[in-house]
Amino acid sequence: MIRRPAMQDLSGALAGTAREIAERAARRGARIWIVGGAVRDLALGRPPKDVDMASALLPDEIEELFPQTIPVGKAFGTILIVQDGLAVEHTTFRSETGYSDRRRPDRVEFGHSVEEDSTRRDFTCNALYLDPLRDDFADPQRGLADLEQATLRCVGDPLARFREDGLRLVRMARFAGALGLEPAPGMLEAAIASRATLAGVAPERVLRELERIFARPGHARAIELFARAGLAGQVFPGLVLGEERLWAFDRLPDAPGLECGLALLFGGDRAAGEKRLEELRVSRETRQRVLDAWSCLDDLRDLDGTRRARRVRLERRPGFEIARRVAGAKGFDRRLLDQLAAEKLALGPEGLRPSPWLRSKDLEAAGVPKGPRWRELLDAAEEAQLDQRITSVESALDWLRARLGQDGGNT
Ligand code: ATP
Ligand code: MG
Repeated sequence: MIRRPAMQDLSGALAGTAREIAERAARRGARIWIVGGAVRDLALGRPPKDVDMASALLPDEIEELFPQTIPVGKAFGTILIVQDGLAVEHTTFRSETGYSDRRRPDRVEFGHSVEEDSTRRDFTCNALYLDPLRDDFADPQRGLADLEQATLRCVGDPLARFREDGLRLVRMARFAGALGLEPAPGMLEAAIASRATLAGVAPERVLRELERIFARPGHARAIELFARAGLAGQVFPGLVLGEERLWAFDRLPDAPGLECGLALLFGGDRAAGEKRLEELRVSRETRQRVLDAWSCLDDLRDLDGTRRARRVRLERRPGFEIARRVAGAKGFDRRLLDQLAAEKLALGPEGLRPSPWLRSKDLEAAGVPKGPRWRELLDAAEEAQLDQRITSVESALDWLRARLGQDGGNT
């Protein structure tokens, strides 16, 4: 059910902030609109999580008008207005021309009207405007009608728009997936014809879109479109999204998160996957968790369900949760995966990393010379503890004596 966007459907905090910003601008004779995702979400009956705004006010004027601003993309007309603890992105009406590096517009021409501004927006459903003071709704590209038809349509000629900015291809897949929209006739063909433009798009922009694809339901359809339009191989040369992987994406839980998405997307060839993570410029933490998830997956593959220490050591690894979800999607034994999850939950942080019964001072007292041997013994003791063969200080010392006796003079 598509409805006419209205202020009363916006949450109190967002509506209040948008109105305050609009009132301040109105005192200067300017009319500010809420635009893009927020208005689209209102039309779809979904609660917007943030609001973007647009008006004819120039970046300098916005900075003058509002006490707290951040010039996040001033050259392109974008200023962050910080108001009541919320950040609202304001972009001056634009009608840009030329994208010679396919990353950012060469030249930005500021515009005067919503009609003008709407022509530079990517899809008709993203070119909806709502005036927070008068509750007027403007739909210069007939985006509401497209939403009613569950159609994703480019503003203007799709081929030209995709060639202008290859990122729109990724956004096409994202919005079609997240909003359950079908690409308008000719759009997919235009995407295929212009897919080479994607190769030049800045990786951080692609990453941001991937992040959003995996942050919400609908990721599987987005990835499927990615495959259908042959986009994957453009962004990640050599990457093939075969049936099996698409099937796995379909079985991944909704909104699995970026790391889980990347682990599945790039899994398989470890070296190539690592290179792709680097090329995408993911954070160090993300890279490490995804790499760890891949190694957890190997361990999951040949886990003998009986050794408790092995299970606990797996359950506490940073990549375990990602690996568990990916493994589930790939058709690993569900019962085993659920058991591991339940065991992890029951153990809690203390159970996963119990304080050790055997300590360095015990090694010292037993006369073991300091060196790498200490680490080995402490590690083996922890394993025995996790396997519940060591259950107290006494049993730890017994274990150590037996171990040292076994090792003979080697210590
Ligand atoms: P979300 O709810 O996921 O934030 P959104 O529609 O608000 O979706 P944003 O990426 O936040 O998407 O962009 C805000 C608006 O800016 C879009 O609705 C669209 O009108 C415009 N826009 C963003 N990126 C592009 C682009 N590459 N080309 C043209 N217009 C764009
Ligand atoms: Mg947005």
